[in-house]
Amino acid sequence: MDGNDPGTEGGQALKSEKTALELAFRSAGACAWGCLRWEEIAPHMEPAGRERVAERCPQVRSLLCAAFPYASGGERAERISRYAWGEDYHTALRRRLEQAAEALKQNGMADSYACWADVSPFPEVYAAARAGLGKRGRNGLLITKEAGSYVFLGFVTTDGDFPSTAGDIEPCMGCGACIRACPGGALREEGVFPERCLSALTQKRGLLTPSQEALVQKGGLIWGCDRCQTCCPENPGRGAAPLPEFDREEPRLSPEDLALGDKAFRKKYAGKAFVWRGVQPLRRNAALLNEEQEHPKGD
Ligand code: SF4
Ligand code: SF4
Repeated sequence: MDGNDPGTEGGQALKSEKTALELAFRSAGACAWGCLRWEEIAPHMEPAGRERVAERCPQVRSLLCAAFPYASGGERAERISRYAWGEDYHTALRRRLEQAAEALKQNGMADSYACWADVSPFPEVYAAARAGLGKRGRNGLLITKEAGSYVFLGFVTTDGDFPSTAGDIEPCMGCGACIRACPGGALREEGVFPERCLSALTQKRGLLTPSQEALVQKGGLIWGCDRCQTCCPENPGRGAAPLPEFDREEPRLSPEDLALGDKAFRKKYAGKAFVWRGVQPLRRNAALLNEEQEHPKGD
């Protein structure tokens, strides 16, 4: 018998830690979760990233990884990438991660923790795939069984001693549809080239180069891009129900909205993820797409 045997004291503790993790993350709305021991992820991080963790969570032992569903598939996005429809995911994720971490603290599983929602120091998709939350897609995204790639990833570092769920990383089926569908040429056989990704390009402030403008026109959205998700056969038609703060209709930005001054626009759409760069990139992108509709290539 060893510590994993449920008949032993160690086995019981392991079982209760797993149950506590499940309860905490399920109640916080996650559709998948797992844990890496700190020594399993630290060697895969930059020294500066490890320092950031040490500052916020000096006694770190475990990295808890969780996926939160924000859409249930289908072809609905027209102008705004679906991740940005509801509440800004930074705020929502922070709240939900805090809820899970606090529950673990309250039941004595951890004394300290730090929550990480976006701009985290971890190789996020690698960590989540290694912890068993889903497959690693060639589109650079994590693909969960529960909600496909329509998930936000969040992380908690803690001094709590949780059992590892690490396993071999499972790759997606590798059909290459995302590489063929990518309007920016950001996905290639060699990997992901973020500087060509429309998700980043549509958020860029100021003027774009003529070739960048052409990419925005090719992508067809004024904010973000969903092509490498909508074309993926591993994405379910209907996945786990999105969390309520993300389950909203796509905001329809009218010409009047886009003509608003920056302050008025930020006020009207406060709390949305597409607001953080102000109205200018959206106005510019919409003008480019209108131009494309009025003068389609080849006319
Ligand atoms: S989001 Fe769009 S541009 Fe970026 S990698 Fe996916 S398909 Fe390509
Ligand atoms: S489209 Fe195909 S290659 Fe791309 S992530 Fe999905 S399964 Fe993998």
